[in-house]
Amino acid sequence: MYYNENTVIYFKGQFVKAADAKTDLYSQSLHYGYAVFEGIRSYPINGGTKMFKGKEHYDRLRHSAALMKMPFTYSTEQLLELTYQVLEKNGFTDAYIRPIVLCSPNMALSKGKECYLAIEAWEWTNGYMSNKMRIMTSSYRRPNADAFHVDAKVSGHYVNSILACQEAKDNGYDEALVLDSNGYVAESSGANIFYENEGVLYTAPKGNILPGITRATVIELCKELNIPIEEKLFTPEEMRGADAGFFCGTAAEVVALSSLDNVVFKKNWEDSLSYVIQQAYKCKVLEKPFQLEQAVA
Ligand code: PMP
Repeated sequence: MYYNENTVIYFKGQFVKAADAKTDLYSQSLHYGYAVFEGIRSYPINGGTKMFKGKEHYDRLRHSAALMKMPFTYSTEQLLELTYQVLEKNGFTDAYIRPIVLCSPNMALSKGKECYLAIEAWEWTNGYMSNKMRIMTSSYRRPNADAFHVDAKVSGHYVNSILACQEAKDNGYDEALVLDSNGYVAESSGANIFYENEGVLYTAPKGNILPGITRATVIELCKELNIPIEEKLFTPEEMRGADAGFFCGTAAEVVALSSLDNVVFKKNWEDSLSYVIQQAYKCKVLEKPFQLEQAVA
């Protein structure tokens, strides 16, 4: 359950009970997937609550809304403030926050006339995903960058994610590796992807992916820790049987992969640079100092 009778959300300019909030069945968002959203994590920091890269997430929400030509006028500062109020009203610290911009009733295929912001949140109890994921190359491709603004986080894009993720689960895997329309590795259904070979990390370049805030954080960490990182196009063949691999995203954080298409990654996870990144990311979000020796066995 994401909410109960006491949960408070921000919706259409006020704080209301989630159970009482109503949306419109004639909305463009429902009919056409014409909505933009974010996924943000907050963590317990120094006895308080802090969103990780909240500004970056709300800048991206505003960017997504602008690309969709939605008349969305909240500033990043207002959005951050409203979100902290939602967290406080619910007494949440370790939480996942889901702001979404919905459009008004309109059956026409024209830009949104009015839009409404909802900020929903729930307590995050998953912790770090400790299991390593078995993934498969999806038969579905990511939306073509000529057909969509792939760097915007738009609800409609996620139908593709549902198809890819469910296909993987139906075939006994944990998740999907989804290629771009040219056959290069793009990302997962809801996370970016890295692989490691001979001391170098690789990730897909911008262009056919949602360039994640976690992905950017991983690249920053690589630079801080002098771990070589390269953004390049690569095929699933190049990735299969590499030393290690991981998914990264706000919800997933840094999650280890055990195999791709049943080909096992070679290195013991704890001996990989990817593991160092996983530990460094944990420290970063919790604002704890990270020492390389912590991670190296
Ligand atoms: N790709 C897709 C398709 C996603 O849904 C997400 C999750 N927002 C990501 C990548 C990772 O983005 P972020 O690190 O900003 O959460």
